[in-house]
Amino acid sequence: MSQVLVIAEHLNGQLNNSTAKAVNCAAQIGDVHVAVFSDSPAAVAEQAAQIDGVSKVLSVENVANSNALAATLAPQIAALSDGYSHLLMPSTTFGKDVLPRVAALLDRPQISDIMEVIDAQTFKRPIYAGNVITTVKAPEGLVVGTVRTASFKAAGTGGSAAVDAATVSADLPSHTRFVELQAAASERPDLQSAERVVSGGRGVGSEENFKVIYSLADKLGAAAGASRAAVDAGFCPNDMQVGQTGKIIAPGLYIAAGISGAIQHITGIKDAGVIVAINKDPDAPIFEVADIGLVADLFEALPEIEKHL
Ligand SMILES: Cc1cc2nc3c(=O)[nH]c(=O)nc-3n(C[C@H](O)[C@H](O)[C@H](O)COP(=O)(O)OP(=O)(O)OC[C@H]3O[C@@H](n4cnc5c(N)ncnc54)[C@H](O)[C@@H]3O)c2cc1C
Repeated sequence: MSQVLVIAEHLNGQLNNSTAKAVNCAAQIGDVHVAVFSDSPAAVAEQAAQIDGVSKVLSVENVANSNALAATLAPQIAALSDGYSHLLMPSTTFGKDVLPRVAALLDRPQISDIMEVIDAQTFKRPIYAGNVITTVKAPEGLVVGTVRTASFKAAGTGGSAAVDAATVSADLPSHTRFVELQAAASERPDLQSAERVVSGGRGVGSEENFKVIYSLADKLGAAAGASRAAVDAGFCPNDMQVGQTGKIIAPGLYIAAGISGAIQHITGIKDAGVIVAINKDPDAPIFEVADIGLVADLFEALPEIEKHL
């Protein structure tokens, strides 16, 4: 039977929802263990133990793991993978940062963005900005892969897996050290797991104008997103970018205001439930994928919608 190791993503003692999504994928392959790397892993390990389908949590306590540095985590993950048939991480910024290093250390090819499990060696994944779904077969031996979180629902909670302290023997590099984490403090939900997202594009026009996006997002209890053009123009931070080179998301409701609908943006919202587009150009390509389209000036439409909520 396949034995899958999922590496937990967490911050400030909270397990990220992407872990439960990766577990859902892993459970379709075989028996699932979750590894938590931290300087004090107890709280996160306890949360991981409650995910349905997890049979064991490996808690790796090391002061070197106080911050998630790819250079430090990769050799430990590579060492811990011994005996496993599969090593999975979510296809989030975290997984995309760490796993290629692990794959290189283990001299294994990486399967990226697994969106469907056919069997233990065969997977579906998107290519060409999501325009083509390809079936790939991993070679014999350890399978190293990232899981496209938009393609898997989070496994439920209710489990009670054993938590084991694990020791890892790996030489940790000293060439990389943690200096500072700069993250926008926000009360809004996490973009990648939010059930509702309100996004703004270049049409919003400025950083100052983005308040119409934040205001509607707050009213809806939604996360705020953006197109790459809006990010590149400096209207909002990079971590709000939705799309091929941003975040791939699957909210139940996606509102796109002042976004034209370039394929590189649409690939980020392929699995969204209801897509609402607000654009003053009736020929904008976003209307081809929208479930509800409103040809309007966003500065009139968004406050009007908010007023009626
Ligand atoms: C390799 C690669 C990767 C990329 N990755 C991404 C990615 O991850 N995410 C991403 O988004 N893009 C990505 N892009 C860029 C993408 O091709 C587009 O350039 C970008 O998505 C356009 O952003 P936009 O829709 O905000 O801007 P524009 O295309 O300029 O569209 C602005 C829209 O706003 C409308 N508008 C203007 N004023 C108003 C108003 N007052 N009210 C209503 N509507 C208004 C206009 O009619 C227009 O349709 C990538 C490109 C490449 C080549």
